[in-house]
Amino acid sequence: MRALKESLLELITETSTNLPPDVRAAVREGKAKEDAGTRSALALSTISNNITMAEENVSPICQDTGMPTFYVHVPVGVNQLEITRQIKAAIVEATKTGKLRPNSVDSLTGANSGDNLGEGVPVIHYEQWEHDEIDVRLILKGGGCENKNIQYSLPCELEGLGRAGRDLDGIRKCVLHSVYQAQGQGCSAGFIGVGIGGDRTTGYELAKKQLFRKVYDTNANPDLAKLEDYIMEHANELSIGTMGFGGNTTLLGCKVGSMHRIPASFYVSVAYNCWAFRRQGVTLSPETGEITSWLYKDEPEGTLQESSVEETESVSKESVREVVLTPPISEEAIRSLKVGDVVTITGGIHTGRDALHKYLMDHDSPVDLTGGVIYHCGPVMLKDQDDKWEVKAAGPTTSIREEPYQSDIIKKFGIRAVIGKGGMGAKTLAGLKDHGAVYLNAIGGAAQYYADCITGVDGVDFMDFGVPEAMWHLQVEKFTAIVTMDAHGNSLHRDVESTSLERLAKFKDPVFS
Ligand code: SF4
Repeated sequence: MRALKESLLELITETSTNLPPDVRAAVREGKAKEDAGTRSALALSTISNNITMAEENVSPICQDTGMPTFYVHVPVGVNQLEITRQIKAAIVEATKTGKLRPNSVDSLTGANSGDNLGEGVPVIHYEQWEHDEIDVRLILKGGGCENKNIQYSLPCELEGLGRAGRDLDGIRKCVLHSVYQAQGQGCSAGFIGVGIGGDRTTGYELAKKQLFRKVYDTNANPDLAKLEDYIMEHANELSIGTMGFGGNTTLLGCKVGSMHRIPASFYVSVAYNCWAFRRQGVTLSPETGEITSWLYKDEPEGTLQESSVEETESVSKESVREVVLTPPISEEAIRSLKVGDVVTITGGIHTGRDALHKYLMDHDSPVDLTGGVIYHCGPVMLKDQDDKWEVKAAGPTTSIREEPYQSDIIKKFGIRAVIGKGGMGAKTLAGLKDHGAVYLNAIGGAAQYYADCITGVDGVDFMDFGVPEAMWHLQVEKFTAIVTMDAHGNSLHRDVESTSLERLAKFKDPVFS
C-alpha cells in the first residue's frame, strides 16, 4: 500500500480545510433564515466567508483542529498495524505543514507533544467488514463543542422541562435540553448526534457516530425520524442563535441512533458539533492504498444554492454602533461602549489561554498590558523561509475556561478588553464593571477571517507552554468583534440564556406519548 500515507494526508488536509457540501448547504439554509442586519446574520456571513477562505488558502477552517478521530472499516486480511503506522505518519506531516494544530497534551505534565501524537492520540476505531475496499472516515471535532457534549441518565429532572422519563418523550426533553445547555459556547449554530442506550462509553460513541450521517438523510427508524424532525423544528425556537447572539438559527442538524441497554441503565448521550463540522471520508484500494472515492462530496438535492442567499456583509447601521479602538485603550473609551456595539481594533493585542492566565495570577507579565487587549486564542503558527512566524489560523477559543482568573487578571494588569467566544460568567461581569473593561465576542471558528486581520507578529513568550498556549504578541488591523458584556453590568449571554430557558419551558408537556 505504497500510496496509503499520501491518501491519508489528503484526507486530513481536506477534512481540516474544506467543509463538505451537505454542511455548507445547512449553513446556507441557516443564514437564509436570519433577518438581514442582525448580529446573528453578521456572524453567519463571517462564517460563510471563512469557509470559502479556508478552502482557497488550503488552511484550517478553525484553529482548533480538535481530536483527530478515525473510523476505519477493513476487509478481512488487511494489516491494521500498517494502517495505524501510516495514519500516525500522515498526522505528523499534516501538523508540520500547518493543516493540524499541535493539540496533543500530556494530561499530567501539560507538555504538548508538538506532533499531534501521544497516548490515545489520534483515536482510531477499526471494524472488519465484508466489502473489498478500505473505508476511512475522519472527524476533527474541537474542544469548544466537545466540552458541550452531555449525557443524561433517565429518569432525571431537567431545568425548564421537569421530569424526563424512560421513554421517547423523556429522550425528546433531553435532546432539547442539550441544545439549551450548549448556548453559543459550542460555536452554534451546531449539529448534534444523539445516542440512545448503551453504557456510558458506548452511548457517547454511538452519539459521535451519528455525526457521520449526512445532514439531509432520513432515519430508517420512523420513531427516530419523527424525533429528528421535531428537534429540528423546535430547537430553533429557543432563539439562542449563532454564537449565542440570539436569532432563528441555533441547530443545523440532528441525527439520532439507538442501541440496546441493560435494564438498570438508560442513557441519552449527545455529541455537540460546532458549525465547523469537519468530517470527510474516503474509500481506499487495499492493494495500493490509493483513494478510489470520496464519501461526502455529493451536493444534497433540493437545498439552497449559494447565489440564492442574500448577503449580509455588515450589520444594520440604524441599530448597531460601530466603534474603532486602538490599544492602549482608555477607561473612558471602554465605559462608553454598550452591549451590541461592533468594535474594530487596530494595533497590538496579546493571546492568552489557560496556561497563561494561571501563570499571570502569581507572576508578572513579560509585556505591559495596561490598556491592553487579551485575545483568548490558540493560533496555528508556522515559520516561513526567513524564520519569521506566520499566522495560519487564529479564531477565538472558549472564554468560560478563564472564568476563575479573568477578573483578577483584568484588575492586576489594567486590561481593558478581553476577546473570546461564548461569553463569561458573573465574576468576570462584575470585574468588567469594577475595573472598566469589556468582553468582545469574536466569531468562533472564523480562523481564516481573523488570521487575515493579523498584520504582524511582534514576538512570543512562553513557548514552553506549547504553540496554542504561548503568549503571542500580534498586530491587528480592523479586527471586528461584538461587545457582548459591557462595563455597566450588561451581558447579552445572560439575557439570551434566560430568554431561551423561558422558551424551553414551553416544551414541558408530553408530545410523544
Ligand atoms: S468552531 Fe468553535 S467549537 Fe468548533 S472547533 Fe472551532 S473554536 Fe472549537
